[in-house]
Amino acid sequence: MDKKKTLNFGAGPAKLPQTVLLEAQKELLDYNGIGISVLEMSHRSSDFTKIMNTTENLLRDLLNIPENYKVMFLQGGGSGQFSAVPLNLIGLKEDRCADYLVTGTWSAKAAKEAEKYGKVNIIHPKLDSYTKIPDPSSWTLNPSASYVYYCCNETVHGVEFNFIPDTKDVILVSDMSSNFLSRPIDVSKFGLIFAGAQKNVGCAGVTVVIVREDLLGKALKECPVVLDYQVQAGNNSLYNTPPCFSIYIMGLVLEWIKNNGGTAAMERLNKEKSGMIYDIIDGSNGFYVCPVDVKCRSRMNVPFRIGKQEGDEALEKLFLDGASKLGMISLKGHRSVGGIRASLYNAVTVEDARVLAEYMRTFLKEHQ
Ligand code: PLP
Repeated sequence: MDKKKTLNFGAGPAKLPQTVLLEAQKELLDYNGIGISVLEMSHRSSDFTKIMNTTENLLRDLLNIPENYKVMFLQGGGSGQFSAVPLNLIGLKEDRCADYLVTGTWSAKAAKEAEKYGKVNIIHPKLDSYTKIPDPSSWTLNPSASYVYYCCNETVHGVEFNFIPDTKDVILVSDMSSNFLSRPIDVSKFGLIFAGAQKNVGCAGVTVVIVREDLLGKALKECPVVLDYQVQAGNNSLYNTPPCFSIYIMGLVLEWIKNNGGTAAMERLNKEKSGMIYDIIDGSNGFYVCPVDVKCRSRMNVPFRIGKQEGDEALEKLFLDGASKLGMISLKGHRSVGGIRASLYNAVTVEDARVLAEYMRTFLKEHQ
């Protein structure tokens, strides 16, 4: 009997296209006929330099990154950048302060980390639940802040920005870890963008940092050298051993995105996939409940409860068990919020989302 296909709706660490995995499998033993694995080659060899350059060029191409921006491939994850951002940028202005838009777990963590290095203003009153983005007209931005920080997609709470905040003359910094390359973005509006590759552009281990050149060289003196953007950019991300394999995988994923129509095509597919799930939630007469304000519902991570507003845990367990029997895994919501979360990253196909939608429809009929 054929093994049932497993559909991975997990929020992390990674969802990779099948073609990428097959290609990597092929090259794991012998990269490009050189007789050693891609895991073994020197990061200073010409073959690896080619991988780095191709990966950077693909990224520049896909995002139309202006020439006055540096691209770095670093270790330390998104969490490493929670420290690196203030260490490098909070000293841009004398006051050493930064504005943080806190709209969920990840921006809250970033703000807490930044407090170690300067003054942090949360630019709207603390939210009692992370289900919305306060209207920009209610924000009190500080013109003397060194930067304004926000998380473009809150992976746990399913809150996504559909607009780029207007911060006037203050530099904008964004964590795009969980929606990177899921839609086109105008890089020129940002001072810095970072994204852990896992989720949309690769596997765990590498974090992409895109930073405007004129912001380099302003790090606080206590900034660890591996987190210093000027040092890393000046060494083409090779100050220390880079996450070679993760960079290689990212190159394959970027090629896959390019061959599949680039960020505009990813956006179209992501709208279609998430639209299918939200349509069922909205048409379920309150059986499925998504707590997030319609205006900022994430296309990447769709959190919902079943049975009632705060969730009927027995029914949710039944839903997860039934999904698992059909091969759909990792649909459990984050432990801090409970319920269900369907993550629909780039590598989740429309067909995968359709299978989930069909299951949700059947479950609704049987349990409403
Ligand atoms: N930012 C966002 C939006 C995330 O979803 C995550 C992890 O899931 C992080 C940051 C932290 O990334 P890491 O685990 O790579 O440190």
